[in-house]
Amino acid sequence: MRRGLVIGNWKMNINWHSAIALVDGIVADMPAVNADLVVCPPYLYIPEVSARITDTRLICGSQNIAAHAEGAYTGEISGSMLREFDCKYAIVGHSEHRKYYADDNVVVAKRYRQAIASGIVPILSTGDSLAQRKQGTTFEVVAKQIEDVIDIAGIDSFHHAVISYEPLWAIGTGRTATGEQAQEVLEFIRRLIDSKSPEIAEKIQILYGGSVKPENAKNLLAMPDIDGVLVGGASLDTDSFLKIYSSFQN
Ligand code: PEP
Repeated sequence: MRRGLVIGNWKMNINWHSAIALVDGIVADMPAVNADLVVCPPYLYIPEVSARITDTRLICGSQNIAAHAEGAYTGEISGSMLREFDCKYAIVGHSEHRKYYADDNVVVAKRYRQAIASGIVPILSTGDSLAQRKQGTTFEVVAKQIEDVIDIAGIDSFHHAVISYEPLWAIGTGRTATGEQAQEVLEFIRRLIDSKSPEIAEKIQILYGGSVKPENAKNLLAMPDIDGVLVGGASLDTDSFLKIYSSFQN
């Protein structure tokens, strides 16, 4: 049985005071659910968030990680820096980073590899565009995003990784994939991993992301291959985020 996982990606939203109120609110009202709950604040807020959640069940992650261990990479944050502030997870290959900062599969794989080397669990984000879905190339696109990482980091690294499927057409659009649409791709991802390592396929957590809300979370989490969700907009509201987390109950 795979453990459930909910990741909140704050992106470049909210200010310092709202960030503190949000994290304190989550900790104060966090229900007893048999699943892990993670928040990924902007880098600047990570030290404060980490300090506030010490000795709680809430976990801190980051929205990205440098592709190199150290050196002259202006503006980047390394895995060892994130570890100093107790970051347990790092999102790599989010579609916004692929789109606005031209991260290709190789750069994503290098970020992923640095996370593994730093003892941080990478959340490898994959996803298709609406055009790719209409052309029927969803599986091909997602497979390449994963296989390029396997080529660089090796299949064994997936013992310590999470994969998410976040269709671009569902991120921030209010348009969610149906449970069946999401399940179809997540099942494909699990089969792909199974073809390399049945042991990893059985245990790896695979998440869905894209306009997840309290209203649709239960239906998504009922799907056999959806082990959790990656939440953007709805993670900025304590009540919505905790309702999504509570969807693991029942
Ligand atoms: C995301 O940030 O990956 C995401 C899924 O955002 P939203 O929930 O707002 O669609």
